[in-house]
Amino acid sequence: MEKKNLDWANIGFGYIKTDKRYVANYTNGAWDEGTLTEDDMITMSECAGVLQYAQTVFEGLKAYTTESGHIVTFRPDLNGERLENSAKRLEMPVFPKERFVQAVIETVRANEAYVPPFGSGATLYIRPYMFGINPVIGVKPADDYQFRIFTTPVGPYFKGGVRPLTIKVSDFDRAAPHGTGHIKAGLNYAMSLHAIVTAHKEGFDENMYLDPATRTKVEETGGANFLFVTKDNTVVTPKSDSILPSITRRSLVYVAEHYLGLKVEEREVYFDEVKDFAECGLCGTAAVISPVGKIVDHGKEICMPSGMEKMGPITQKLYDTLTGIQMGHIEAPKGWIQVID
Ligand SMILES: *Cc1c(COP(=O)(O)O)cnc(C)c1O
Repeated sequence: MEKKNLDWANIGFGYIKTDKRYVANYTNGAWDEGTLTEDDMITMSECAGVLQYAQTVFEGLKAYTTESGHIVTFRPDLNGERLENSAKRLEMPVFPKERFVQAVIETVRANEAYVPPFGSGATLYIRPYMFGINPVIGVKPADDYQFRIFTTPVGPYFKGGVRPLTIKVSDFDRAAPHGTGHIKAGLNYAMSLHAIVTAHKEGFDENMYLDPATRTKVEETGGANFLFVTKDNTVVTPKSDSILPSITRRSLVYVAEHYLGLKVEEREVYFDEVKDFAECGLCGTAAVISPVGKIVDHGKEICMPSGMEKMGPITQKLYDTLTGIQMGHIEAPKGWIQVID
């Protein structure tokens, strides 16, 4: 397989069109068999459900080349399961998780020339999504849906080295109790755009959202879960019904317990406790873990003891172990690595 001639280390995180994408249509109450296509354009009614009432859910995962030269993806079954749950919450039909995994494999295979080589730090980002496509004007779920997967190569996340983030405690709320914070839906991102643009204007990298009901507990950022480490090396992650169940965070919790022998607590985390933690990181597919160096609450600064130069020691161990598992030089738990080629 001849690789595309891309400058893998410098492609950044933007959309680069690849050769093939997967499309399946849901009409008359059933999914068709689905197919790969070269057509990257979608034609739909001006009144499509997704355009009027934002009925759309998505996933994000990566394919990459391991040390031994295999193209693999990480726990795609969990993405398939999460998409099922997201769809149910928005009254959309379920695209079965077994078919999801198969479609991911087919799409990556068809775009093998775009899977960055081992060692480049770049990966092939995979974006599955589905949306209501028929005309909907009275507020109700659509009847017809489209499920698609496209891929796009993305550059190394920590280009030029790790840089701990400075984040602010947001005055905006991300997700209401009993709302949609736990599903991966564009609607949770649309309303976060004003908050992140505001934070960026003020010089912050990210927002820390608190629970809207009491504003005393840590929820997550716009697109990553928090992970804290106490001064006696216990890993703590916030538990809440309104945060997105990050696959990276769940995997790091497993690594902490079963590979590193650390104590893990998944529980409510009060903002008042944050000043006492030794390390803080953000977990998500994009970076695995981004270290947080400073948290600012209306001018009051909390500086993490791990500082603004590097990851904290436990965060680093978690990062090295999980990326080692992903790249194939540390043995993975059963079922974590889906070999594609
Ligand atoms: C996707 C996402 C995450 C990270 O989840 P991963 O499965 O680890 O990529 C965290 N928070 C939100 C709001 C997300 O949308």
